[in-house]
Amino acid sequence: MKKHNFNAGPSILAREVIEKTAAAVLDINNSGLSILEISHRSKDFQAVMDETVALFKELLAIPEGYSVLFLGGGASMQFCMIPFNLFEKKAAFLNTGVWANKAMKESKGFGEVIEVASSKDLNYTYVPKDFVIPTDADYFHITTNNTIYGTEILKDIDSPVPLVADMSSDIFSRPIDISKYGLIYGGAQKNLAPAGLCFVIVKDELLGKVSRYIPTMLNYKTHIAEGSMFNTPPVLPIYSAMETLRWLKANGGLKEMEKKNIAKAELLYNTIDNSKMFVGTAVKEDRSRMNVCFVMKPEYAQLEGDFQKFAQAAGMEGIKGHRSVGGFRASIYNAMPIESVQALVDCMNAFEKQNA
Ligand SMILES: *Cc1c(COP(=O)(O)O)cnc(C)c1O
Repeated sequence: MKKHNFNAGPSILAREVIEKTAAAVLDINNSGLSILEISHRSKDFQAVMDETVALFKELLAIPEGYSVLFLGGGASMQFCMIPFNLFEKKAAFLNTGVWANKAMKESKGFGEVIEVASSKDLNYTYVPKDFVIPTDADYFHITTNNTIYGTEILKDIDSPVPLVADMSSDIFSRPIDISKYGLIYGGAQKNLAPAGLCFVIVKDELLGKVSRYIPTMLNYKTHIAEGSMFNTPPVLPIYSAMETLRWLKANGGLKEMEKKNIAKAELLYNTIDNSKMFVGTAVKEDRSRMNVCFVMKPEYAQLEGDFQKFAQAAGMEGIKGHRSVGGFRASIYNAMPIESVQALVDCMNAFEKQNA
């Protein structure tokens, strides 16, 4: 049976990317060696690193003056690495959920942490709109896509201070205006590559301004100076990232990707909105195109387990909602074809016909 992979992360990758990664594990560039057993400083791997950086810059239209880094430690490592490098006295945060909270928590030891607004009052089902960013903050931190709650900031917001964005789960899902950001980071395992890799896009002029000692491994300058090769980088995820970026480019780049993502999200949200049985959890204007969260209406709540089993039997994988939201979450990242979203929609309609 065909499986439709709605996992939130690690999550779906393009089949082609998995096949090409598998081929490189067996033999990279007809060298007779696996990518797993060659030096990260070899010609073969240096070419992978160079192409991955170049494709990042090309696809995202990254202007001059920014560096692209590939590091270990996942997005969570950045929750402390960012304050080490950018936090002098005060940092501001938009609290839109679990990940924003973790970023805030890790920053607390560095100085004054300001929460400019929070949507905690309604279990993070919306993105706060009316907030003032303090002009004396060292930076303002946002989470553009809230993977757990299914809300997303689709606009590149204007900030009077450097804007720092966790884009773990929506990077490469739409074109962005990089010039509005000071730093963008994320774990690779949602939209880009297997787990174990974190990407950082940082505006060079923001670095070197804090007065503290920064441990070598946590200093962005260390990794910029060494082209992400200060120590051994996560070579296999970087290889997969390169293949994902080649795939993105061959499929029309980010404009085309955004079109497809809009179509997929509309298909699923329209089904939810027209359903007698299901209801979305996020407010409409802040709905995520990447993670679609929905629950059973109260009168059908007892059917939740039944739908879970029904969907599983039809090949739907990973649609169980996060424990802090409940219900269901369909993650429909870049690599998810609209046919799989249609399969889920058919499954929801069939279940509703049987049971409503
Ligand atoms: C998954 C996720 C993280 C955590 O990523 P790790 O690589 O596991 O540390 C952080 N932020 C967001 C928005 C995420 O979706």
